[in-house]
Amino acid sequence: MPLPAGAVIGILGGGQLGRMTALAAARLGYRCHILCPEPDAPATQVTDRHLAAGYEDRAALDHFAELVDVVTYEFENIPLGAVQYLAGRRPMYPGPDVLAVCQDRLLEKDFVRAAGIETAPYRAVDSVEDLVEALRAIGTPAVLKSRRLGYDGKGQVRIDDPGQAEAAWYAIGGVPAILEGFVPFVAELSVIAARDAAGTIACFPVAENQHENHILAVSTAPARRAAPVCQRAEEIGRTLADRFDSVGLLAVELFLTKDDGLLVNEMAPRPHNSGHWTQDGCATDQFEQLVRCVTRQPLGPVDVLWPTEMENLLGDAVDRAPALLSDPRARLHLYGKAEARPGRKMGHVNRRLSD
Ligand code: AMP
Repeated sequence: MPLPAGAVIGILGGGQLGRMTALAAARLGYRCHILCPEPDAPATQVTDRHLAAGYEDRAALDHFAELVDVVTYEFENIPLGAVQYLAGRRPMYPGPDVLAVCQDRLLEKDFVRAAGIETAPYRAVDSVEDLVEALRAIGTPAVLKSRRLGYDGKGQVRIDDPGQAEAAWYAIGGVPAILEGFVPFVAELSVIAARDAAGTIACFPVAENQHENHILAVSTAPARRAAPVCQRAEEIGRTLADRFDSVGLLAVELFLTKDDGLLVNEMAPRPHNSGHWTQDGCATDQFEQLVRCVTRQPLGPVDVLWPTEMENLLGDAVDRAPALLSDPRARLHLYGKAEARPGRKMGHVNRRLSD
């Protein structure tokens, strides 16, 4: 049974993804409550209730469970224990099993390979000795990445020479890691699959992404790549979402190689920055799609309205907001963050590329 209008969606995390999910939920008549420790976080500014507590605070989690009908999360570094605890009290979409895999780069790559989908070559690394051995097997260049708590290039270091092994190990803090072969990709693509409570899957059209300093700068959708490549990317998204047997969104980042191979880099079980274009360029946007999934409604159509380019406004770039507002092809989305630190995601702009 779908949740009726007026039901409450609990969101763990208070960032911009939670904010945009809450805005989409409001349009469909739902309320959202946020649990996050930070005061005045982006999502709390647009929702009627904010429980300001740490994710490990069991009394707060109990209280939160009382207040909401269903729970989701908006970033994948929420402590797994909190998600498991809440999942025992309220329906949790996507479930804790999905989060457990996506929080850990080793489990993630194992999961992808087990689904018969390619990744860069990789090895688990738990010590300098492991790293030396892994470098021997994989060769250089390679990338050492912490298994957990990495995002936007944090917790990773490129290795060009085996002599850098020890320095690289200490640079990532000597934590459990994986070594990956460096992929000389020609493009980075991403696909977001939505799976509803009935098991129906819809994939948003594939986006092509440009990063600067490891942070997403621009996404263009639909990707201007050969149809078979995009179809295969969607098929990968569909296969992985299906294997998780979960409800909600699954974003998959891919490397396209020069011989048209597709390798999965990483997955996120939540709305994704490369899917923001859907707000203005797709019949249903990724946030509404998530709301439909968690409230057990059918999925919305994913037809492209027009080709769209999404540009992140990082740090001071947010000062361009007034000029962007007078561009008839642009739609501005700001996140309500007070301080524009360098590299901080302050908002984004979606620009229509065709007439
Ligand atoms: P990640 O945190 O894994 O998403 O990595 C951030 C960015 O680093 C990616 O979007 C790529 O641009 C780059 N990168 C990560 N892993 C590799 C790799 N194995 N080979 C080449 N580039 C990589």
